[in-house]
Amino acid sequence: MKIVIIGPPGAGKGTIASRLSQMFGIPHISTGDIFREEIRKETELGKKIKEYVEKGLLVPDEVVIEVVKKRLSEPDCQKGWILDGFPRTIKQAEELDKFAPPDIVLNFVCPDEVIIERLSGRRVCKKCGKNWHIKFMPPPQPDRCECGGELYQREDDKPEVIKKRLEVFREQFTPIIEYYRKKGLLVDVDTTPPPDVIVENILKIFKERGLIK
Ligand SMILES: [Zn+2]
Repeated sequence: MKIVIIGPPGAGKGTIASRLSQMFGIPHISTGDIFREEIRKETELGKKIKEYVEKGLLVPDEVVIEVVKKRLSEPDCQKGWILDGFPRTIKQAEELDKFAPPDIVLNFVCPDEVIIERLSGRRVCKKCGKNWHIKFMPPPQPDRCECGGELYQREDDKPEVIKKRLEVFREQFTPIIEYYRKKGLLVDVDTTPPPDVIVENILKIFKERGLIK
């Protein structure tokens, strides 16, 4: 099963992708993770990527495509994969169609208010790095972790920054969403409900499309 997941930050991509990954025994591949790994291992590719990242530039299509192509040719991808964060451009989508066309594209849809509530409530411990949520996973004391460390809000999780990230997401991904919709591969998935319900709905979609029995 070859799955592409598209969705704004805070729509639950990570959680759902890891559930599907376990369920189907296929890897969850995020280009961000591969980039960090290549940089850490100081490979030729990693050095190239680092240059762009350090200059604050987008990694060009050719490089991203090379990275993904290499990753998808590894043995653990034989049964399929879940791609998250790729493709980001029409060029990338067209290339993916050439070497590994997806079976389905899940478009995670979640109202902005829900995303803002989810992300802006997050607090991170300065000492141990643990994540809390003021509403969904409240810390033992306000602004204190169980380890005693002080909690803070990441810059990325401030409502104004989240709104900006949502705008950037839309600008970047609308053409990709349209690309896959035209091909009949795109399915909208409402990610407002809890993860169990979302997964159940996705399995229904897979059945309807004959991807699973
Ligand atoms: Zn802590």
